[in-house]
Amino acid sequence: MKKIHMVDLQSQYQKIKETVDQSIKEVLNSSAYINGPQVKEFQADLEKYLDVKHVIPCANGTDALQIAMMGLGLQPGDEVITADFTFAATVEVIGLLQLTPVLVDVDADTFNINIDALKKAITPKTKAIVPVHLFGQVANMDAIMQIAKEHHLFVIEDNAQAIGATYTFKDGTKKKAGTIGNVGTTSFFPSKNLGCYGDGGAIFTNDDDLAHTIRGIVNHGMYKRYYHDVVGVNSRLDSMQAAVLKVKLPLLDSYCDARRNAAKFYNNAFVNNSNIITPTTSSCNQICDQCDCHVFHQYTIQITNGKRDDLHQHLLDKGIANAIYYPVPLHQQKAYKDTRYKEEDFKVTNKLIDTVISLPMHTELDNEQLTFITETITNFLK
Ligand SMILES: *Cc1c(COP(=O)(O)O)cnc(C)c1O
Repeated sequence: MKKIHMVDLQSQYQKIKETVDQSIKEVLNSSAYINGPQVKEFQADLEKYLDVKHVIPCANGTDALQIAMMGLGLQPGDEVITADFTFAATVEVIGLLQLTPVLVDVDADTFNINIDALKKAITPKTKAIVPVHLFGQVANMDAIMQIAKEHHLFVIEDNAQAIGATYTFKDGTKKKAGTIGNVGTTSFFPSKNLGCYGDGGAIFTNDDDLAHTIRGIVNHGMYKRYYHDVVGVNSRLDSMQAAVLKVKLPLLDSYCDARRNAAKFYNNAFVNNSNIITPTTSSCNQICDQCDCHVFHQYTIQITNGKRDDLHQHLLDKGIANAIYYPVPLHQQKAYKDTRYKEEDFKVTNKLIDTVISLPMHTELDNEQLTFITETITNFLK
């Protein structure tokens, strides 16, 4: 049996080695390391794939969030609501821009922002909502877009974990995750669903003016060379990374399918185990099996009998990689603690940190590995 990793980038690379190597070689032969044709080509390919008017590539997913917030003109003191249970990048950039983060609780079944908590958190200072499509599942965008409309708020989708997912609205229309709000952001970090071989990120929007503003911000605030109209940043996707992404983008749908198949295998294996809560795909309006709203960046289960930490260690002892995403809620992190937060407002997150465990999830898992993982878990949690 192949070694069981959380992600298996090496096996994935071996299958596409020839085309990737060739694509990288073209960059080397041209020496156009920055703003080479690969960047423009990948940008156009991604616009087409997402059916969005503008993709602005940048250096990483954290920059993408920061630049999106700068592009929207958010000002110090503006309140930005986001989920308490997520990777820190989201709240980090809110802090860096001297905006006020307002963390709210999440849903116990989807791990995504809780709609009632979100409504309760809105004040006259609220300017934006950042739904994070956590673990690859799109948040309840019907409700979020409705709330944003009523209160005139911007929606910035943190789509770092859900690229390739499709959200189905109540009226049946479908949109790719990240193209629903005013602006969406993503990360091409190697282990993300569409990963490059270094750092990379992108911003998506259908708003022409916002796209123009953002294109200047990523390039030192220049709209004309050496004329700096606004304070910008230097954030680029380099040609080598674009060369890799250009080869991998056409494979993204098959990668999503491979992840969903692994998730199905896990779901079936755990269905009768009362100690395990498997992920639900209830946020959009489709029957699960016909639904594309979850692309399983992570496959995260909840262990209900208090044995999560024991399971974590047991799996490690058996050579099965696994991880706790996330062990500390953001409102309790040293950097983001605030007397505004009351523990009773974070009942779900405070519970999830003790029950969640993420299992190996990638495009290269085979049946032998999945059988070994699921049997090891069900034997331990009998
Ligand atoms: C990975 C990630 C980011 C940051 O992306 P980087 O490319 O690592 O900067 C932001 N938000 C979420 C939810 C992520 O998972």
